[in-house]
Amino acid sequence: MKPSLMDFTQKELMAQIKPSFRVKQIYGWLYHQYAESFDDMKNIPKALREELAKKYVVNPLKIVNKEESSDGTIKYLLQMQDGKTMEAVWLKMKETLTDEAGNTQQEAKYTICVSTQVGCKVGCSFCLTAKGGFTRDLTAGEIVAQVVTLKRDNNHKHNRKINIVYMGMGEPLDNLDNLAKAIEIFKEDDGLCISGKRQTVSTSGLSTKIDKLGEMDLGVHIAISLHAVDDKLRSELIPMNKAHNINSIIEAVKRFPIDTRKRVMFEYLVIKGKNDDLGSARKLVKLLHGIKAKVNLIYFNPYPGTDYNRPSRDDMVAFQEYLINHGLLCTIRDSKGIDISAACGQLKEKSEGEI
Ligand code: SF4
Repeated sequence: MKPSLMDFTQKELMAQIKPSFRVKQIYGWLYHQYAESFDDMKNIPKALREELAKKYVVNPLKIVNKEESSDGTIKYLLQMQDGKTMEAVWLKMKETLTDEAGNTQQEAKYTICVSTQVGCKVGCSFCLTAKGGFTRDLTAGEIVAQVVTLKRDNNHKHNRKINIVYMGMGEPLDNLDNLAKAIEIFKEDDGLCISGKRQTVSTSGLSTKIDKLGEMDLGVHIAISLHAVDDKLRSELIPMNKAHNINSIIEAVKRFPIDTRKRVMFEYLVIKGKNDDLGSARKLVKLLHGIKAKVNLIYFNPYPGTDYNRPSRDDMVAFQEYLINHGLLCTIRDSKGIDISAACGQLKEKSEGEI
């Protein structure tokens, strides 16, 4: 597998490709023009293009499947150079607003959900990705290329704002070095220029790695997949909880450098009869005391073969009201893409004929 040009920061490329002003041009082709091949890079001399093509690939990903939902969510199955596949999701967060004369008042807002691994080691019992086991980490270039590929496919200009959530397949903090590199590459001024504030690392709670990410001071947000308020249930849902229990996660979050204007997002996957009662809501309020937190309640989305069920709307709303009445910000996540394979890992499984 050849490295991709997207595996490197601009500075790293400048150390490898001379003269360095060519790297600025190449960066423009990669991140402003979304070039697919060296032949696209018209202002780079042919000899240099040929030399580069021997050592690198431009974009290491190709779209092999795509499912579009009526709400604008598009789920992509992407293939890498070694034939392995993973997913990325294009999420429409806000519609375009126009006035009566048809002038755009606010452009639609999008978020890209990216994967960091093929498969995952964490083994959450509610997750399809976990069932396929772990295959390999994604390279930094394969993480970066997901955003480039989806922006290109949606005709989304390089300077239009986009948010990134590391919430696709895999545990981002289990691939910390490549994740950190990708975050840096996204932030490059001459590249996509996506600030840390627009990037959210969503973790199942590897507490020691939360500390390491915090020490790197990349300016990103974190979201914690908490899902349960006692270690017994959490270990049942997320076996890795035995090594990183709830307390250790909460302590690590308290140490994490958080932008004072922002809140830490706690994801809480609500499963009927498991963690949807007001006793759990009470414990959650106690646990998050002292943290500037926001809780995002997520309906469990049943898939074939699972024993868990979707909670009722009434229980969901009662849970939310309890949290709000006790001073927490709390939202219920829209089930984006509910008419397509919306849970992590479902599109991949389906394409491989397992569902
Ligand atoms: S939910 Fe996320 S962390 Fe858990 S097994 Fe699935 S991909 Fe891994």
